[in-house]
Amino acid sequence: MKQHKKTRPVMVGSVQIGGDAPVSVQSMTCTKTEDIQLTVEQIQQLHAAGCEMVRVAVPCEEAARAIESIKKQIRIPLIADIHFDYRLAIRAIHNGADKIRINPGNIGSDQRVKEVLKAAKEHHIPVRIGVNSGSLEKDLFNQYGSVCADALVESAMRHIRLCEDFDFEDLVISVKASHVPLMIETNRKLSEITDYPIHLGVTEAGTVRQGILRSAVGIGTLLAEGIGDTLRVSLTGDPVDEVKAGYDILRALEIRKKGITLISCPTCGRTQVDVVKIAEAVESALAHIEKTLTIAVMGCAVNGPGEARNADIGVACGKKSALLFRKGEVIEKINDKDIVPRLLKEIEAWQESG
Ligand code: SF4
Repeated sequence: MKQHKKTRPVMVGSVQIGGDAPVSVQSMTCTKTEDIQLTVEQIQQLHAAGCEMVRVAVPCEEAARAIESIKKQIRIPLIADIHFDYRLAIRAIHNGADKIRINPGNIGSDQRVKEVLKAAKEHHIPVRIGVNSGSLEKDLFNQYGSVCADALVESAMRHIRLCEDFDFEDLVISVKASHVPLMIETNRKLSEITDYPIHLGVTEAGTVRQGILRSAVGIGTLLAEGIGDTLRVSLTGDPVDEVKAGYDILRALEIRKKGITLISCPTCGRTQVDVVKIAEAVESALAHIEKTLTIAVMGCAVNGPGEARNADIGVACGKKSALLFRKGEVIEKINDKDIVPRLLKEIEAWQESG
């Protein structure tokens, strides 16, 4: 693991991206933004799952107008995602968006970009320049001959320079691609030449299984190299899963440890109980816990406690029984029917004591 590359701090409402801030997890609603009630409900679910900032699509006037009411009902910063129409960006800013995401390449003339930046500056909010491999400018495509990392970096730098020319530096940058090697290479190059905070993501990552894997590889590789200040896992599915996956990636790299890390063995010929069922029951019962804790569910008493030595609390299952252990020390033998409730009780007691 390389040391996290320090970038400029940018404030999105009360949440800092870059600087000394921890890598933050964000998501995007999949409701119609103008359906205020549904959007607020989904944002509240995302917030409960740990989402630290939420983005909403603003494709029309009604959506831009809805921001004002949505903002009053949520407690995490709201980011407005705008394509094509600079007036919607300005409207979203006036209605209280905490950050705007635009792709200056599709907003129209430089003058229109300037209008958006002017409004953002007046309202003291940052802008994310979101470059996407699918919307690379034609002249860059012709110049480089393909959608390659150099072309995408040049596209991002072109937009950065435009903002800087207008004296606007309150920026977060993202360059996303659905091709994971391209996404990795582009962000490596970008990080070498700029110190603006970087938002990581694999775009159009796919259905839940594929999307989580591809995001974990793309985002995880960069984070391990110290690159990236905020992330979104894009999934074709419930955005709550995006948030969970984001934390899982951060936890796997031990960048952020918030919540439960569940260690469970893959099972083998020694397994005598349904380890999968126990692990899943424990994981879902503990999903709400914010404290840092490592729990182990192991399939046998021979290797279990040793293999899960680093766990805070765990069980090593045997024939019709299990050993309950804390920090590798066995503290009790339990009946197989009581494994899940007894383990949860022990975790509860640990939480109260800590
Ligand atoms: Fe097999 Fe025991 Fe290891 Fe699980 S903990 S994989 S049951 S040896």
